[in-house]
Formats: sequence, C-alpha cells, structure tokens
Amino acid sequence: MHQRCLALGSTGSKQILLLLIWVEIVASHEDHSRFHWHDKGQRSGTPQSHSCIHDKILEQQRRIGVKQYKITPQVYEDEVEVIMEDPHSRRLLSVSSRADVELEKHQPIRIFLNYDAVGHSTDRDCHSLHDVVKLGEPAPSATPGFPACNSLSEPPIYGDCWYNCTEEDISGEDKKKRLHEALGETAAWFRRALSVEQIKGPLRLSGYSACGQDGGVQLPRQYVEEGVEDADLVLLVTTRPTTGNTLAWAVACERDQWGRAIAGHVNVAPRHLTAEAESLLSATLIHEVMHVLGFDPHAFAHFRDEQKRRRSEVVQQEHDQKLGRMVTRVVLPRVIMHSRQHYGAYDDKFPGLELEDGGGRGTAGSHWEKRLLMNEIMTGSVDTRSVVSAMTLALLEDSGWYKANYSMAEQLDWGQNQGTEFLMSRCDAWNGAYHCNSTHSSGCTYNREAEGYCPIEQYNNDLPAWARYFPEPNKGGQSSLADYCAYYVAYSDGSCIDTNSARSPDRMLGETRGHESRCMASSLVRTGFVRGSTMQGHGCYEHRCSNQTLEVAVDGVWQTCPIGGGPIQFNGFNGHLVCPPYNELCGSTVPYIPGACPHACNLNGECINGECHCFLGFSGEYCNQRVCPSGCSGHGTCTANGVCDCELGYTGTDCSTAGCDEQCSLHGGVCDNGVCEFRCSDYAGYTCQNSSALIPSLALCGDVLAGEAKGQHCAPSESSILQQLEAAVVVPNYNRLIPSGRPLFSIFDNGYCSAAAKRLACWISIQRCDMDGDNRLRVCQSACQSYNKACGARLDCSDRTLFSGEEGYGLGTCTGDGITEAWLQLHLRTLLLAGLLIAITGFFLATIRYICQTLQTSGSGVMGDSMHDLHGPYVVITEGEFEGGLSGTGRRKPLGTFCSLPMEPLLSLFMHKTSRLPSRRLLSDILLMHTQQLHPHRATRGVESMSEEGN
Ligand SMILES: [Zn+2]
Repeated sequence: MHQRCLALGSTGSKQILLLLIWVEIVASHEDHSRFHWHDKGQRSGTPQSHSCIHDKILEQQRRIGVKQYKITPQVYEDEVEVIMEDPHSRRLLSVSSRADVELEKHQPIRIFLNYDAVGHSTDRDCHSLHDVVKLGEPAPSATPGFPACNSLSEPPIYGDCWYNCTEEDISGEDKKKRLHEALGETAAWFRRALSVEQIKGPLRLSGYSACGQDGGVQLPRQYVEEGVEDADLVLLVTTRPTTGNTLAWAVACERDQWGRAIAGHVNVAPRHLTAEAESLLSATLIHEVMHVLGFDPHAFAHFRDEQKRRRSEVVQQEHDQKLGRMVTRVVLPRVIMHSRQHYGAYDDKFPGLELEDGGGRGTAGSHWEKRLLMNEIMTGSVDTRSVVSAMTLALLEDSGWYKANYSMAEQLDWGQNQGTEFLMSRCDAWNGAYHCNSTHSSGCTYNREAEGYCPIEQYNNDLPAWARYFPEPNKGGQSSLADYCAYYVAYSDGSCIDTNSARSPDRMLGETRGHESRCMASSLVRTGFVRGSTMQGHGCYEHRCSNQTLEVAVDGVWQTCPIGGGPIQFNGFNGHLVCPPYNELCGSTVPYIPGACPHACNLNGECINGECHCFLGFSGEYCNQRVCPSGCSGHGTCTANGVCDCELGYTGTDCSTAGCDEQCSLHGGVCDNGVCEFRCSDYAGYTCQNSSALIPSLALCGDVLAGEAKGQHCAPSESSILQQLEAAVVVPNYNRLIPSGRPLFSIFDNGYCSAAAKRLACWISIQRCDMDGDNRLRVCQSACQSYNKACGARLDCSDRTLFSGEEGYGLGTCTGDGITEAWLQLHLRTLLLAGLLIAITGFFLATIRYICQTLQTSGSGVMGDSMHDLHGPYVVITEGEFEGGLSGTGRRKPLGTFCSLPMEPLLSLFMHKTSRLPSRRLLSDILLMHTQQLHPHRATRGVESMSEEGN
C-alpha cells in the first residue's frame, strides 16, 4: 500500500524475487484492511465480529419507559419459609439461617432454555420472504414500512424500524437445530463457570407482563402457576432479525429479592445461525448471557457485598484530567484484585477498571473499555479471539449472587503487566508495543504473535478533543470503542505462529514461522540483498528459553540474547535483530512486578504496595486464614473453620445483616439490612393506577379504595391478577390482624375492629404511589394507631418497613391518610358505646346487689357465709364439673349465681378498666369476663380466682 520497494539487488534475478515478495505483501495489506481479526474458514458475508447493542437497548427502554425488570422473591435452601395455604401466595422474604455451608450451598447454575416463542410472533418473526416485521417500536406511520431497516444498510438502524425479511432471516429446521446446540453449549459453559445458591423447589416467576425487549415474550402460563423445576434462570429464546453485525442480544426481565436475574430474553438472528458463524456465535452467546447474569448497569444497582447488603459503590464516575473526559470505573473488590494482578498494578493510585463509554457518549456502561481490555469477551465487540478473563468472572462474583470458577478464565494478553500507568494515561503515551503512529510502518502486534499494520483513518468530522493523538483533528485509530487509539493490528496472514493462515516465511530474512516463532524487530537481510527501508522492520523468528536465557534462531542458527534484550547479529546476514527482554518471552517464571504480594494474597484480598488487605472473613499476612468477623456480631456462632453460623433472622459473612419481615416479600420489596424497599416499578407487573380502575376487580378492598377514589395505587392492572393478590395477600393479612376469638368481641365493638383490620390489610397490601408514580408509600402510622385502638391490638406502629414516620400525616405522603379523622370519630363512638355498656352493666349489677341484699335480709337467700351452705350449680362451678352436675332446682339458680359473686370488686374493676383507653390486654380481660358470664362452662378458672379475690 504505502510501502515502496527500494530493493537494489546485486543481480537481476534477485531483484525479481524481491519484487515478487513485495507484490505479495501489498496484496496481503489490502486483505487486512478489510478484516482486522483473521479467522480462517469464514466466508465473506459472515461478520468477523459481533457488535453488542446492549447499551442501545437500555437507552431505548429508558426512552419508551419500559419497566426494566420485575422482582419475584424465591425461597432458598436453609431459609425461613412461611407458606400460606393459597398456592399463588408469595413466600416470606427469607433470611439465611446458616452461613457456614457457603460453598456447599452454591451449586452449578442451571440455565433453563425455553424455545416456545421461536417463530411465534406474527409481527416480529420472519415467516416468509418479503415479510415486513417490526424492529424495536416503530411508530405506526402513514407510510407503512417506514423507516425501513435492513441488515445491509450502513450505518445500520438498530431499532424502531420496519425490516424487510430475506430468505436468511427465516429460521428453518437447520437453523433451529444450530440454535439449540449453540445455546445448550452456552448453558453448559456457565454451569462450569458459575455456581449459585440453589433455589428450594421450583423457580417462581410472576409473568405479569411480557419478559424482555421488542415486545418481549410471554412466559408460559405453566411457569407462572407451577414454577420451573431445577432452574436458577430461565431464558426465553426468540429468533427475530437484527441489523448490522449484531448476531444476538439479551436482557434480564425478572429478578429475585436479592436482585439476581431469574428470567431473561435472548434473541438470536437467524441470519447468523450458519455453520460459518459457529465459533463467533459461541463467543457472542456467552457475552450476551453475561449481560443477563449481571453485566448490566441495572444489575449493578442490586449488587450485594459479603454482608449481603446492597453495595454502596459498584462504579465511580469522575472527570479524568489525564484522559480529558468523564470516566466510569468499576471499583468492586474482586474486580480490582484481578485487575491489579493482570496489569501488574499494585500501587495505591490504582483507579478501578474502566467501563466502555461508547466513544464518549457517557451513557454506556455494559462493557469493559476496549482500549484497556481489547479482546476480552465483555468489550463492546466480540470476535473469535475473545477470551473470558478473570476480571469478568470477578465482576459476576462481586454481585454477591455467584461463586466463580476461575479455572474457566482464559489468558488475556492485552495490557498484561503494563502497570497502573497503562490504565491511567492516554494511549499515545503507551509503550511501543501498544502504540503505533504511522500507516507507513508495519510492526509486531503487542503480544509478538503476528506482524501487523497500523490502521489510522481520516474521518469526515473532527474527533472529540480527548481522542486527538495526531496533529490533524480528524485523524485517529479505527475503533471508537478503543478510543481511536492506534496500535498494530495483525495482518490476516501475518501470524508468526499459525502456519496454516500465514504467508510463507521470507527466506531472504532468515524467518521461520511456527508455534515457537515470535515477531521481533529486525533489519536482517541475507548478505548481498537489501531490505526495503520502511517495509518490514521486523520478522518472525523462532525462540526458546533455556538456562535463564532467551535464544533466537535465524536460518536455523541459534544465538543467545542479552538478558535485558537488545540487538544481535548473525553470520551471513547484514543488519541486526532486536532481542526482546528475557522476561517478555520466557514468561513461565513470573517477572518481578514492583508491589506484588506473595501468593497473590491467596485471591482473598487486595494487594496494595506489597501488602495484603484481606476481604471480610479472611485474615493472615497473605489472607490464607478464615476468621469470623466481629465475633459474628452477636448474631451467630463461630464454627471451627472460622465461618459464622448466623442465627435466624440474620445473614452475611459476619451475621450483621438483618432480614425483613414477610410483608416485604409479600409486596416484592427488596430487603436491605432489615429495611424493605418497595418500588412500584420493581415488582412484577405493578404499575401506578387510579383507584377507580381497580375497584371493580376487588371484592374485599373495593369499598376501602372507594373512600379514596382519586388515589393512585401500586397494583397489577390485570383483574385476574388483582383478584389473586386479594386472595393471596390481603385475606391472609386481614386474618392476621383479626385477633383470635374476635367474633365474640364483635358483640362489644359492633364490627369496628374487623373494619379496622380490613382497612389496614387493604392499605398494607395495595399501597399508594408517590408523586413520581414509582415508589410505594408506606402505610400512615395513624392508620396503624387507629387499628390498635379499635381492636385493642399492639401492632408496632413504629415499624418503618411498613408504616410511615410520625411526620407521615400529610396528604400524599403515606397510604391511608384521611382515615385518621374517621377513626377518631369511630373511636369516640367506641368510647360512647363502652360508657353506655358500663352504665348498663353497673345498673344491672347494682340491681342484682339490691335484690341479693333484699333476699339475704328476708332470710331465704343462697348467698351464705360458708361454701357448705351452697347448693346446686354453685359447687359445680367451683369444682369445674359444671356440665355433669347442673341439677340445681330451677327458681333460685340465676339469682344464686350472681349473688354468689363478689359484686364490689367486679363493679370497681369494670369502672376502673373501662375508664381508660382499651388496650388489647385489658379488653381481652373484659372479654374473658363476658365469656364467663355468657358461657360459664368455658371459664371456670376465672370465676374461681375471682371468688378467691372476693373472699
Ligand atoms: Zn454486550
């Protein structure tokens, strides 16, 4: 291309030979500029890489206000569980009762694949040629099919367009078979790479609305009703077309109470389900499923630490002075630990691992920065050379949901041992292996495995200021994902190692290609020949490591290199070869990195300047011991192997984290250290709705909600689900709020308690939305207090998981406001009623006393001084054998019974207790007496003790 052959051979035949070589090289250059990543066996038409559109999907969801996910609580092994009778009922948000089985609790992740939706969407799947189907959410415009998108348009339209189907977009049997195989392998790969705390029983899914993107997929009814056996994650698969070189995409759509994805939607374009794309598809699917599992900014928000609390920091965003732009970096502990290890960066300036900004838009966050991780699988573009690094596995482990198997991690060469500076400086300041600055030069790729060229483009527009590495503002490297950095890219036939794809070695330069060959800078040329001046300042030469030295062979002759690298000469060749340093190629012995820690802190802690900083639960100089942190915080016992065994209701490595009560999961709330976070949008199919829209579907709560017709309530919109909610949530709540034996009490309270319980049950179960229409409002504390008063209950109204604070009285700040007044009125009525009752009872008792006294005075009474004087039922009652011995002679019996009771204490007790507000205990005391009087056979002991008091 730009090379010029200045070969001046000593003979004409040699000139021709060199000219031929030159022609070959020029031809190969043209190939390379089209395909940057060589990949044998791929035909044209098959993309060489997969461009992930995950960030674009998230952007689209934000734009059209799609609910990003739903929360459906699961039951985990060794956890508290309350199962209500109703099969649809939700379970208690459970808390781990034992933490010592940490490892055994984690089992290989079971990904369940469902293909029911493949080819079943009439408006999104390509069924026949020239079908026009929807991509994204195109507006139903006047011109049908406009805007149009197709797989070949450049740049491709990614969403909200009409797609014209071609033959390749229809998924026939062969494509379906490939899909099953590819996804089956993906699931198997993750089973080896990740383990997860297993769910007890079937995976529960809510399925209130479609799962996923572009219309999503409806969960099979059976999954919702019965759950999915032996699964930790369900992936719903579709085969809808995509544009550009996007092979597939995937999103999570349901999460459990800890935030872990339990359902997701994976779409694979039929166009790419070909034999040619097989290896690229494998890498792509691993990449996409990583997004579902946790490599996603929405998932980051749910990440948990060792204590099972929500992480306060997953990423840090700052304006980086050196880079000249906003930078988002992951600061998770294991990601940092593995990044330090990879980059050999152990100083305290280590900033975290950068996320892709997609060329500086600042909205992205679903990929590693390509400039720094290049062919890592979680960068924004995937190809067949992509590798899964320990850093990606660490990110998933840092979610708190998985344990990673790091033996599944592959070696990432890019950036290895380049130090903190590599992460923090502009790429034009990187060392020569990672940086090139002229299209005129060719050189060795960073890992010396291939010869490469230096692709620099002239763009139509100026690049952003931070991406200008050349005097011309529109000049830069070829990849916006890699921040327009310029680095050597391997020629398609430039490999020093792969003899199948590489061009044959240049014998004039003494080259050898093969497994042990590496690219080295060189000006060697056989004596009598002359090299081109700029062309090929390098070549592929065999190397070996022996006796602590690096040796290099030219034309079969081995020579020892200087330990620190440098030029050496060979007989029969002009010029010299520049040896790499010993450490660079003889990497079996780990080079000394300043600040590195022995044993890498056993991968249980971060290494900073040679010192291990152990993660919670680990101790020792190299973090090789397990310890119980903070003595298990007083909520657990420390087992012999240094692991806390937490008591019921507490969790985390140090048992310091409290669980939430069952109300939390009844609402699909997310529990964070005893605080239950309710968000309307978090929960399955819940939206903010006008009360009047809900009332017709509710039997029990209809009239309660009717009292607040203008309110917005957080509830499912489908009437059947709403009825289910009432049966599964409201009724059990109501029953719980009604104290046992209450029906009898209704005689006393005239139904006010049950009404209060019903109101509270409804408020608790169907909460109002806040102004933003997203957060659920807690139930007003006043509603709780009113209930307590009406039912004489002692519900803890200060419980902030359920009730608002004292300040929560104002309109629109809590659920159930306005009922305070109503309940005060009711309470007044209750007081009046109680007063009336006291008056009547007092009058009644006074009357009896008067009659008794009259009878005593007349000498015919039964109220004798001694028990021996007593007759009939009297004896029977005190001995507790009432039923067997009720044989007293009729006429005197009722009066006899009452006259036998000590009237004065009874009367004073009544007067005293009802003069105060009825608390639950006092009211039940009174109730007991009522019961005794009404049904003496149920309460003999009470009468007995009272008799004694009376005496
Ligand atoms: Zn992606």
